[in-house]
Amino acid sequence: MLVGKLKLKRDSERRTRLLDRLAEPPEAGHELFVGFSSLRDTFSRHHHSRDFSFAHARYLRSRVLALGIIFAILSPLWIVVDALVLPTELLKYTLVGRVVLILGLVAVLLLALYSQERIRRIRLCAGMLLALPAAFYTLILVMLPPHELHNLVGYGFIPFLLVASLSVFPFTILESLFAGIAMLALQVFSQMVDGSWLTGRGAEAFWLLSSLLVVSMAANHFQLSLLLRLYRQATHDPLTGLFNRGALEEHLAKIQAWQRDTEGLDSAGSVPCSLLMLDIDHFKQINDTYGHSVGDGVLCQFAELLIGQTRKHDCTARYGGEEFVVLLLGSGQARAMEVADRIRFAVETFEFRDRERQRISITTSIGVTQLMQDEPAQEALKRADEALYRAKHAGRNRVIAAAPLSPG
Ligand code: GH3
Ligand code: MG
Ligand code: MG
Repeated sequence: MLVGKLKLKRDSERRTRLLDRLAEPPEAGHELFVGFSSLRDTFSRHHHSRDFSFAHARYLRSRVLALGIIFAILSPLWIVVDALVLPTELLKYTLVGRVVLILGLVAVLLLALYSQERIRRIRLCAGMLLALPAAFYTLILVMLPPHELHNLVGYGFIPFLLVASLSVFPFTILESLFAGIAMLALQVFSQMVDGSWLTGRGAEAFWLLSSLLVVSMAANHFQLSLLLRLYRQATHDPLTGLFNRGALEEHLAKIQAWQRDTEGLDSAGSVPCSLLMLDIDHFKQINDTYGHSVGDGVLCQFAELLIGQTRKHDCTARYGGEEFVVLLLGSGQARAMEVADRIRFAVETFEFRDRERQRISITTSIGVTQLMQDEPAQEALKRADEALYRAKHAGRNRVIAAAPLSPG
């Protein structure tokens, strides 16, 4: 009886465990593989879009500010340790070095603070943040008499601290590798100065530093691939792979800022930019006739067609259900009308296919407007939408330009 009850209990526990396992998300355990498969994206910046570079730089900047503040606080605090362990006549060397280091760190912090969207400057700041303590350590090694080096406390830790700091940044593997090799070189130099080079102690330290570098590079890889994944999820439409509405609006604001910056730089004035708002005609009928999944397929083919009809630096976004926006950089309204009509014709003649490879005919209506640099981006989108509305009312499958803005 008791044995029977125990068996029943064990069976029910086993069933619960099985059910728990079934309830796990199907992708669990797949994450590590996905992490390594994105090595191409995290190895160097070569495959990153310009837009991701901006997001990346913003993230890098927050890390530079955080670590810069930590270094700037640690550095003067270490003067107390120096004062406790170093003879007075040697203290002046480290004191001068520390003052220069602190001034350098403050300059890097200020530069990072005022470099919001300047990608190159932010990268320079990150490099300087690592180079300054390394330069300080080199200086001390050169200036201090070799037999006094054993008096220093905590200095030999600097290359280790810097290699560990690499993992705090979303650096690419290649960037970390370059920085890491520089730190290994610094370690070799310090060992040659203090005489531990090619000794057991020196080899141990070198091995530790190399291992730490590999761990930091792995941390860089996972950090950067997570950042890329989050960026893609936040800015791209999962069905078509185009930019989503939020990313488009951010992009528009960036273009306007850039237009303001470049205004008057050449005789042609600022670079014009136009917006096309497209809506597939009678799309509901496609869903009703062929089913929702075929409708999804048509949306993907439509997105591909738009990419094929625009240039690399134009921005194509899925604005909503079957509404799309194309941002034409460098095109005024007249040129945009030509491009819009070319797209309209391409859609009309394109052979969209259902699952059985049967042809589906669709058409699109398009509203066109030029983006003004001093208006809220929402205004331009509203104008394009009104023009699109008029195109629908005029019978669909046509392109209509928004009414010109009244002066003033
Ligand atoms: P109009 O010419 O006036 O634009 O007519 P329409 O039928 O295209 O417009 P309506 O707004 O009446 O219908 C839009 C349809 O688009 C309804 C909605 O189910 C469908 N839709 C929106 N998003 C998706 C999607 O992601 N996939 C699919 N398959 N259909 C979608
Ligand atoms: Mg429609
Ligand atoms: Mg619609």
